[in-house]
Amino acid sequence: MSNNRIALVTGANKGLGIETSRQLAQQGILVLMGCRSVAKGRKAAKELQKEGLPVEFIQLDVTKPEQIREASAEIKKRFGKLDILVNNAGTSAGEGRSLNSTATVSPEALRQTFDVNFFGLVELTQKLLVLIKKSDSGRIVNVSSILASLSIHSREGGLSSYKPFAYDASKTAVNTFTIHLAAALSDTNIKVNSAHPGWVRTDMGGPHAPLSPAEGARTAVRLATLGPDGPTGKFFHGEEEVPW
Ligand code: NDP
Repeated sequence: MSNNRIALVTGANKGLGIETSRQLAQQGILVLMGCRSVAKGRKAAKELQKEGLPVEFIQLDVTKPEQIREASAEIKKRFGKLDILVNNAGTSAGEGRSLNSTATVSPEALRQTFDVNFFGLVELTQKLLVLIKKSDSGRIVNVSSILASLSIHSREGGLSSYKPFAYDASKTAVNTFTIHLAAALSDTNIKVNSAHPGWVRTDMGGPHAPLSPAEGARTAVRLATLGPDGPTGKFFHGEEEVPW
């Protein structure tokens, strides 16, 4: 694997996104920190630059096609390729995360959640594929969740009443994308996997989660830096496979 790798991490201004950026940059990978807010993105990039890490801010709201086009054009112009894409940006807008909202979630919340977690992720990935194909070891990591797991939810008492519908369904759709894209790219060097970070202390995970952001970021970082014999089309937490 070449050591002039370029990575793009979405939702990189806080939580798992900034930690994933930090850990990739600590391996000497140049990390483009995709953030929708210019102010928050610049601040986050500055924080890691002060640690001596090779990172840069790039503006990217994954729901804005023009920003996807601009980011892609900038990466093409400056680097001509992309080695690693970590689709980390995510939301559980409008429904919280600790309830079963299936009977009540509004169409607006459902659409907003899918816009970020699924449609934006797919559109960005499709747009960047041409650049990822230029890498000799392309890696795509879709940050999913154990809450995407139909196998676990459909078990008796599976994840109990922890079923925020819009969030869970959007992450299940992300997992379908992982499986289908891995199959579509099976004759390339590109590996595509889903990551479950664990329950992590971030704005989304809340203060009572057992894992630190640094611990939570490890799964995505491992999948982003898999060697040539690594898996593709799989769903992991740490080194363990999660059932679909
Ligand atoms: P945070 O809420 O802390 O961070 C979410 C990030 O996504 C922020 O940077 C946010 O930006 C960004 N984001 C939201 N909408 C957009 C958008 N339209 N375009 C670009 N960026 C956007 O969450 P976490 O760090 O906890 O979550 C990161 C990922 O991990 C998510 O995909 C989440 O679903 C997943 N996950 C988290 C778990 C946990 O326990 N924390 C468990 C399982 C999965 P802004 O600051 O501007 O809002």
